[in-house]
Amino acid sequence: MTFSKLKAWEIAQGYRNRDFSCEEVTREFLDNIKEKDKDINAYITVTEKMAIDQAKKVDEKFHNREEMSALAGVPISIKDNISVKDVKMTCGSKMLENYIAPYDASLVKKIKKNDGVILGKVNLDEFAMGASTRTSYFGVTKNPLDLTRVSGGSSGGSAASVSANMATISIGSDTGGSVRQPSSFCKTVGMKPTYGSISRFGMATMANTFDQPGVIANDVRDLTMMFNVIEGRDEKDATSVGNPGLNFDFDFSDDSIKNLKGKKFAIPKTYLNMDLNERVSGELNKAIEILKENGAVVEEYEIESLNHVIETYNILVNGEISSNMARFDSIRYGHRTDKKFETIEEMYRASRSEGFGDEVKRRIMIGTHILSMDNADEFYYKALKVRGLIKKDMDRMFKDYDFMICPTFPVLPFKIDDDMSPVEMYQADLFTVPANIVGSPSISLPMPAGEDGLSVGIEFTGKRFKDKDLLQASLAFERSLNK
Ligand code: GLN
Repeated sequence: MTFSKLKAWEIAQGYRNRDFSCEEVTREFLDNIKEKDKDINAYITVTEKMAIDQAKKVDEKFHNREEMSALAGVPISIKDNISVKDVKMTCGSKMLENYIAPYDASLVKKIKKNDGVILGKVNLDEFAMGASTRTSYFGVTKNPLDLTRVSGGSSGGSAASVSANMATISIGSDTGGSVRQPSSFCKTVGMKPTYGSISRFGMATMANTFDQPGVIANDVRDLTMMFNVIEGRDEKDATSVGNPGLNFDFDFSDDSIKNLKGKKFAIPKTYLNMDLNERVSGELNKAIEILKENGAVVEEYEIESLNHVIETYNILVNGEISSNMARFDSIRYGHRTDKKFETIEEMYRASRSEGFGDEVKRRIMIGTHILSMDNADEFYYKALKVRGLIKKDMDRMFKDYDFMICPTFPVLPFKIDDDMSPVEMYQADLFTVPANIVGSPSISLPMPAGEDGLSVGIEFTGKRFKDKDLLQASLAFERSLNK
């Protein structure tokens, strides 16, 4: 039996039928990691002992016929910017190379309480800044579908671990697309829920008004299973409000939930006027056809302000980054220089110069520039106003439409050694960042693979706190693809 090819919900059913034990399943996943991860580099830390101990505990509980959560015994990987107690949390940075998390993130606590099996911590762009994992201090994560390409980012380790059967579900974080973009690169399903649905406590902050934990899995049903567990208000995160739209149980045998009749999708005209990669636009057209064949309405819609999302996102996010990264002073924690220093200034300078990589430094510098005296009016406050405008425009669209549809990313996975400039990388985030700017839930769903094994991700974005509707439409779309 190859358990690792099963969906999480199939594994959960297998436990209940006594088809196999959690220890068997866990060992198979750990073996896969040993065999495949030499080439892929998804994991930074494998928590083998913790996973086996947990698996034995789960088997015992099943044996004793205890009431078990749907997530019990499901093998999970966690992005390495989320704290798991007593395990290294590097954030993909030399700065935290040896940092051991002293507590569990709130969402990790919930996973443990529900008896999920954590296999380890997975790679990311340094402090989640990037879209390829190339900025990670621990090297790039290769794409399991084609090892000459990147897995995407920043949650590239998460998507690759699921895609290569080295975990069934992974937790990532999404500030501007980091859960959805690697999902589209690795042919997995990835969703960022409404801002505030899941506690950020214990997740290293990149840009706090944009960051939200998200989930990567093999299908929509597995996503819902994880969201049910980790959703919720948390007094340790004042911006968390919880979201009943994520805490529910679909009756998956009920066909009416897999229906697209009457659902209205808007496709922004601005996107259609772009010079899209041919393969990507071809797949988008196929997706639109499938939606229509299944009773949905897809219409073009003009949102002029979407032309300004990249500038708005980068100004605001870098501003927040420059302030958030100030905490890495190498006094409370973080890399400390071996160089001799006379003043504390010199110590900060040397430690931070050595500890941070180029992308993090670039963003700290841009953010500091943007927030400094005169520039704050010119850039930061102006961008805040544009954020408001984009929100208004999207809200107007959502009065008439249920969802917005577009490709998740404008191109196929990059070659590992291509020479994209940082600015080209930033510009490519144009389809994913709107959801973070306005706080909407957004999902990437994979189209069937082409002959080269690669797939294009299609993104649906929904109304705030209507995550359940988004999941339901995604289920219906997924089923139409598999018919
Ligand atoms: N690619 C985006 C960026 O580099 C998104 C990052 C993220 O979502 N963490 O900013």
